[in-house]
Amino acid sequence: MSCGTCTLCCKTMKVHELGKAAHVWCAHCKIGQGCDTYETRPESCRIYDCLWLQTQRLSRPMAAELRPDKSRVVVGTANGGEDVILYIDPDRPEAWKRPAMQHFLRELRQRRIRIFLSRNDDLQPLPL
Ligand code: SF4
Ligand code: SF4
Repeated sequence: MSCGTCTLCCKTMKVHELGKAAHVWCAHCKIGQGCDTYETRPESCRIYDCLWLQTQRLSRPMAAELRPDKSRVVVGTANGGEDVILYIDPDRPEAWKRPAMQHFLRELRQRRIRIFLSRNDDLQPLPL
């Protein structure tokens, strides 16, 4: 399984090698298509898989509608996988409240996984 037409992490994530800030499009991103410097992209881009992509290899993958270009939220992990971070697209600040994402978040809460919202480079915990 691949990213398909999703390129949202090229907006939401920092890329320190490029001095790229979070929540702005990378200058190399062809939105919805891919990376114009794919063969020479930085290491942090090479190793990054969002949680949606990681779970596509598992027996219980995240739903197709939660692919970040559709949900408008990039879901990542921190703290050795014990915490989940929702990287919010500033152009869709309320998208994480949609039913499909809320259903997913309820499953995480039942497993006592801590959830954080990342927006404007600020990390805030979501109450349990
Ligand atoms: S957000 Fe996930 S699915 Fe989308 S391009 Fe990045 S790694 Fe691929
Ligand atoms: S260098 Fe390529 S893979 Fe990395 S953020 Fe920019 S567009 Fe995305």
